Amino acid sequence: MPQGVLIVAEHRDGKIQGPTLEMVAKGRDLVSKHGGKLSVALFGHGVDALAEELAQYPVDQVLVGENETLKSYTPEGYSQALKAVVDQADPLVILMAHTTQGYDFAPRLAADWNLPLASGCVDVAVEGQGIVVTRRVLNEKIAVDLEFGGAPRYVVTIRAATFKPAEKGGAGAQVQKVAVQVDAAKIIRKVLGVEKPQVADVDITAADVVVAVGRGIGKKENLVLVQDLAKMLGGVVGASRPITDAEWLPKSRQVGQSGKTIKAKLYIGCGISGAMQHVAGMKDSGLIIAINTDPSAPIFEYAHYGVVGNILEVLPSLMKSLKS
Ligand SMILES: Cc1cc2nc3c(=O)[nH]c(=O)nc-3n(C[C@H](O)[C@H](O)[C@H](O)COP(=O)(O)OP(=O)(O)OC[C@H]3O[C@@H](n4cnc5c(N)ncnc54)[C@H](O)[C@@H]3O)c2cc1C
Repeated sequence: MPQGVLIVAEHRDGKIQGPTLEMVAKGRDLVSKHGGKLSVALFGHGVDALAEELAQYPVDQVLVGENETLKSYTPEGYSQALKAVVDQADPLVILMAHTTQGYDFAPRLAADWNLPLASGCVDVAVEGQGIVVTRRVLNEKIAVDLEFGGAPRYVVTIRAATFKPAEKGGAGAQVQKVAVQVDAAKIIRKVLGVEKPQVADVDITAADVVVAVGRGIGKKENLVLVQDLAKMLGGVVGASRPITDAEWLPKSRQVGQSGKTIKAKLYIGCGISGAMQHVAGMKDSGLIIAINTDPSAPIFEYAHYGVVGNILEVLPSLMKSLKS
């Protein structure tokens, strides 16, 4: 009977991606409660070092599929390669992060194998031979639990920054090569190259402190206020969409539904109204502080502390107090 969890690892530029380690943390939690093994599938070409690295995390086995055709991720290649790995691990849940790769691959896999798919979840639990996933719906307003049953296994994607990444430690996992079969003719996508942003930017999802700026800042020249505050607090500057749309800050700083999901220890929203699409990306932060001139701004519904005031006045006086 299928049991346990299989995570499909994501790697880029020779590095395991952070969301994969978040899935390891969740996967470990699931197998501790419900039994079975925590396995990680690692596909690529020349990925021995990555496999050894993954084995240092609290997983039971790293199943490595090496093949020239798997050098770059393609849904067709990964779907074919996963066959041998799934035969071996026989997992109940195939788990991956809801990243660009995860939400591309998961539906392909579910369709190829006729398996149920629960995507963009914020949690998953095992109930007997079925699962219960939690999803946020209606513009993030409510969380619903959905039951899935009657299938041999389930494909689940979980949003990034939902769980804390696993840390190295544990007994040391077994690394095993699996003979994967990939028919190159069935790979319809060819990766011609990878384009990276020209300027390497900070990763707001990894920051403990995010000072986020919205349209209330008024003009680009005023951004220096939030930049100074973020620097003073050892944090980074995030933004609402109008700020990145106006190109006052790069897209990589955008918090929200079509930006990044953050789970900062401290989030300070400066001149941000709190539209659902923004809130979707910051509501799980530890401590939320909002500064807004409008006392009825929706952001105050999510804030632990609120300041009704003009950021152009509040921020300088806040920094003055912090300095002294
Ligand atoms: C499909 C879709 C996806 C989207 N994705 C995102 C997303 O990922 N992230 C995102 O942020 N948005 C997203 N949006 C846009 C979102 O709906 C809002 O329009 C946006 O979040 C509003 O940004 P804002 O709060 O900065 O601006 P506004 O809503 O204009 O709010 C500005 C706030 O500043 C306050 N203010 C004005 N002056 C001052 C001052 N001097 N001091 C203090 N407060 C002041 C005002 O009272 C107001 O509350 C998306 C929209 C759609 C349709």
